[in-house]
Amino acid sequence: MSAAGALADIPVTLERGQREVFCGLTGIVWLHRKMQDAFFLVVGSRTCAHLLQSAAGVMIFSEPRFATAIMQEKDLAGLSDANEELDRIVHRLLDRRPDVRTLFLVGSCPSEVIKLDLGRAAERLGQAHLGRVKVLNYSGSGIETTFTEGEDACLEAMVRAAPVADAAASGLVVVGTLPDVVEDQLERLLADSGIADAAGGLTFFPPRRAETIPPIGPGTRFLLAQPFLNATRRALLERGATHVPALFPFGIEGTSAWLHAAADAVGVAHERVEAVTRAPIARARKAIAHYRPQLEGKRVWFMPDSQLEIPLARFLRDECGAELLEIGVPYLDRKTMVGELGVLPEGSRIVEGQDVDRQLDRLREERPDLTVCGLGLANPLESEGMTTKWSIELVFTPVHGFEQAGDLAELFARPLQRRGALKV
Ligand code: SF4
Repeated sequence: MSAAGALADIPVTLERGQREVFCGLTGIVWLHRKMQDAFFLVVGSRTCAHLLQSAAGVMIFSEPRFATAIMQEKDLAGLSDANEELDRIVHRLLDRRPDVRTLFLVGSCPSEVIKLDLGRAAERLGQAHLGRVKVLNYSGSGIETTFTEGEDACLEAMVRAAPVADAAASGLVVVGTLPDVVEDQLERLLADSGIADAAGGLTFFPPRRAETIPPIGPGTRFLLAQPFLNATRRALLERGATHVPALFPFGIEGTSAWLHAAADAVGVAHERVEAVTRAPIARARKAIAHYRPQLEGKRVWFMPDSQLEIPLARFLRDECGAELLEIGVPYLDRKTMVGELGVLPEGSRIVEGQDVDRQLDRLREERPDLTVCGLGLANPLESEGMTTKWSIELVFTPVHGFEQAGDLAELFARPLQRRGALKV
């Protein structure tokens, strides 16, 4: 089926009901690691602070680059001026942390409930600290965002703040937070194949230093590296940039197709891409082959969580021989997912949104060999004898590109091995 056909044809069941998924604050855990000069100040409650601390639990910093400005009951009751308090906290923070060049004010459920205008606060504080720090804002609240939508909201805010590129300037931007090691590998492949030069330059977004946001304009082409960047994609299009639709760079097929789509967009011959990818593909094949016997024929179920579900399901089916029972996604933007929908087989069961009880009823009836789900659902399902994989691990672990394809297969194979060992 052609990609354009799939855009219209793949049936998607919509479900609305109770959801089991993290809020967008979670993204701060990987965003703050990526942008070394940024600070994320959540304007929220003790619950928000606990969520962040437990999500980032294993990392101990003497000077962390995220914090929560805790709103007290009197703020929530409108008895104090939350803006004044916020300004005080920000001034104190910036005095103490001269290394911070970009400050993100991150909205939460409590700040939304009292309608604290963080857009205006960012403007006010940006003016007050002009030349010293850039202040941006976005929402990570559980009312507005789920899990990976926090990164989408953050990057959308950065696109809106990006300098405007000259009409004549061209360049390729890879969009989506990637671990540095993965970014380096993809950068090498894009450079060695001649794609970076043919495009007129290559940048990664977000950059490692938030103050160096690349200029974006009509000559910008962008490739998405993460499948959850729907609002960011739209903001880039509004700037006049051109989306290069492609599979996402998971597994051999995804990474190859991603590179070939970039090559097509900038007029580089496929032979050049093939020449630089031959060796990494051979390594990836060998690494996946090690885990394939454990995954072949296994019936897999994805609960909606990270928005990585569709490309990961494609990898499991096409490269590891798994059978897909249900692919749940929290949201589906068909334009972002156009390449992936084009290669899913007819009859794939995609469910957008969540009514967790109904979904669990179906799951219990079909009893998959492996369920990919959020932390909250994993323990109850394990206690019912089912095997689960935490979807959050797939977001926190480097899984993109050829060199990580074996690790990606291993992440799915490991719980099956563990269950097998328990049975023995
Ligand atoms: Fe909970 Fe909302 Fe804070 Fe997220 S933003 S931790 S959902 S209160």
